[in-house]
Amino acid sequence: MTAINSLAVFCGSRVGINPAYAEAGRVLGTGLARAGIRLVYGGGRIGIMGVVADAVLAAGGDVLGVIPEFLTKWEVAHDRVTELVVTDSMHTRKRRLYEESDAFLIMPGGLGTFDEAFEIITWKQLRLHDKPIFLCDVAGSVAPFVATIDHAIAQGFADPACRNLFEVIDSVPAVLDRLRLVPAGAGGSAERL
Ligand code: AMP
Repeated sequence: MTAINSLAVFCGSRVGINPAYAEAGRVLGTGLARAGIRLVYGGGRIGIMGVVADAVLAAGGDVLGVIPEFLTKWEVAHDRVTELVVTDSMHTRKRRLYEESDAFLIMPGGLGTFDEAFEIITWKQLRLHDKPIFLCDVAGSVAPFVATIDHAIAQGFADPACRNLFEVIDSVPAVLDRLRLVPAGAGGSAERL
């Protein structure tokens, strides 16, 4: 049995130009429901976020959405998730997303997704948590992100060990397989989150 009961997924509030992005979201959502893993995400019903949440719900799974009050209209909060938490700020939202999750998965997205990805990676660098972080490479979406980190390493601004803070996985089915293999106790204490 996997140690992952809840997975935070960071992904776009748009679907992007390649249909492969939404398709990956659908496969992920269905797979999480089948694996009995709860989806923890930003609570919107639009973009890849909405696609993943809808797929989990359609397959009978559990979804926790966490959305700040001011975004409930902009992002069009999902009205059918298992639980929707409305927070007073972006910072409270992010903390709640992090606390509720045993691991993190970054899917294709825009600036908000980059922000969440970099934050959870840098918090691991600072040893504020030790939970697994996975980047799913859908249609080459991960390469520019990793290239930015590699550039920082090459220029002496980051330690090469930074590359060990996250794992790049090349497809959604491979992510689902990988989640099954996370050993009990991975991630340890999140007391400092
Ligand atoms: P995006 O990747 O820009 O479509 O955003 C995906 C998610 O990140 C959405 O849930 C946004 O609410 C969130 N987000 C957008 N901008 C920011 C930001 N500046 N800081 C943190 N999260 C953000």
